[in-house]
Amino acid sequence: MNGKVKDDYERPIISLRISITNRCNVNCIYCHHDGMLESSSEMTSDEIYEICRIAKKIGVEKIRLSGGEPLVRKDIVEIVQKVASLDFKDISITTNGIFLDKYAKDLKDAGLDRINVSLDTLNEETYKNIVGKNALQRVKDGIIESCAVGLYPVKINMVVMNNINNDEIMDMFEFTKEHGVILQLIEIIESESCDDNDFNSMYHYPLADFEKYLAEIADEIKIREFMQDRKKYFIDGGEIEVVHPVDNTNFCKNCTRLRITPEGQIKPCLLRNDNLVPLVDFIRKGSADEELVDIFIKGIHNREPYYKEEN
Ligand code: SAM
Repeated sequence: MNGKVKDDYERPIISLRISITNRCNVNCIYCHHDGMLESSSEMTSDEIYEICRIAKKIGVEKIRLSGGEPLVRKDIVEIVQKVASLDFKDISITTNGIFLDKYAKDLKDAGLDRINVSLDTLNEETYKNIVGKNALQRVKDGIIESCAVGLYPVKINMVVMNNINNDEIMDMFEFTKEHGVILQLIEIIESESCDDNDFNSMYHYPLADFEKYLAEIADEIKIREFMQDRKKYFIDGGEIEVVHPVDNTNFCKNCTRLRITPEGQIKPCLLRNDNLVPLVDFIRKGSADEELVDIFIKGIHNREPYYKEEN
C-alpha cells in the first residue's frame, strides 16, 4: 500500500510522534507527559524501526521522537540511525536539552534533521523553580551546539505561564534571534499530573491576546498548512510560532499527527487515552505487514477532532 491515508474527517496523516520513553531526568511543574499514561515498558530500537517502516507505507512523511525525555535512552543515536535509514522527509526530536551538548553531533551524524528544545526561561532561579534542577547553562550550550553541528531549524519550545514567565517572551525572542533559532510559544494545557489542582486556573496564559500584539508588530505572517494551522510571525529578522490547542477548533481541524505511546500503542489524540490501539504486540508476534497496516488504519479511524465546531 502506498499513498497518504486520511481519517474520517478528511485529515491526511503526515506525521508520527513516537514517545520512546516515559522516563525523564527533570520534573517540570506543568508537564502533561505528552498525554501518556504511566508505564514502565519501552520499545526496542528495532520495534521503533518497524513502526516507522509501516508508517511510511501508509504515507507518513515525518517522524518526531519525544517522551519522557528521549535523550535519557542510551540507544538514542542508534534509534535515530535506524529511523533515518527509512528515508523520511524529516526526523526531529523534542528534548529538554540537558544532554544535547553531549549528543547533538552524534544525532546529526545519525540522520537527525532538526530539534525542538524546551526552555521556558533564561532566569536561573525561575528555571530551577519550573524544572526542579539547575541546568540552564547546559541547555543553552546544547542549543548553541545544535546550531553549530547543523541541526536546522532549532526551535525553542516555551510554555507560557501567567506570573511565571509571561513577561519574558520578548527576552527569549532576543535570545533566539541572536542564535538563529525559532521561538515557539506554547499555550499551557491543563494537566492532571500537576500537583496543585489550581495550577491551570492560576497560571493559564491565553496566547490569543499576545498573538494580536504579534500581528501588529510582525513584518510578515504565514500559516503552517497541515501543521494545525499554526501561525508564524516574522519580526525584525526573527521568527515566532504560536501553538495554542486549547478550545481551538482550527488546531484540531488541521491536525495531521498520529502518536505512539512508549509501550507501543497508537494514540490518536494528545488529549485522549480512551481510544488507544495496541500495535507493538503484533510486531512482537511477527504479524504480516498487511495486518500491521490494518492496525494503523484502525488507529486512524479512531481519530476525532477534540475541539469541533458545533453546528
Ligand atoms: N522531555 C522532552 C521535552 O522536555 O521537550 C519531551 C517531552 S515534553 C512532554 C514535550 C513538550 O510538551 C515540551 O515542549 C513541553 O514544554 C510541552 N508540555 C509539557 N506539558 C505541557 C502542558 N501542560 N502544556 C503545554 N505544553 C506542555
